[in-house]
Amino acid sequence: MKIICIGRNYVAHAKELNNEVPDEPVFFMKPDSSLLRNNDPFYIPDWTNEVHHEIELVLKINRIGKNIEKHFAHRYYDEIGLGIDFTARDVQQKLKEKGLPWEKAKAFDQAAVLGNTFFNKEELADATNIQFKLNINRNLVQDGNSNLMIFSFDDIISHISKYVTLKIGDLIYTGTPAGVGPVKIGDRLEGFLEDKKLLDFEIK
Ligand code: ZN
Repeated sequence: MKIICIGRNYVAHAKELNNEVPDEPVFFMKPDSSLLRNNDPFYIPDWTNEVHHEIELVLKINRIGKNIEKHFAHRYYDEIGLGIDFTARDVQQKLKEKGLPWEKAKAFDQAAVLGNTFFNKEELADATNIQFKLNINRNLVQDGNSNLMIFSFDDIISHISKYVTLKIGDLIYTGTPAGVGPVKIGDRLEGFLEDKKLLDFEIK
């Protein structure tokens, strides 16, 4: 399986990092070795001083597809979960300045946190209006809603599949809302999708 992440999919987040609002989805990938599951602790690597949290809704692909038309895209996923796209922001900033790829800052071990529970999209009243949030040490730091996405789930699937064949079990991290910031040793992160807690783990 592979992990595909969307960048700059919320206007307020693009602006907080002084990025342009894109006119088509920006995507990048993480390897399966970056997955962190079961609420295991996250260990800050020793080569970065600034790991940022990015809470995101995650789609799980349920059939193989290439060149998927937008109006068929909803058939390619039926489960939605919650994850964190950990980003070594200091490293990413240097790579961006040099016009280099972002992998060192995004694809490292444990950089893709994933909740164990997924919602079947039929269980959610409206997939275009899903609330999610991240608390650190019980303080709200990110508060998102899928209705603020620039590119919808269907836009994203259609766009990615023009370039990359989607396969069963692939994960798509759909972008983070505003409020990203650094984590530090001892922090407790709790992620919620609607009123259900799907993530609860510590930074070490
Ligand atoms: Zn992200």
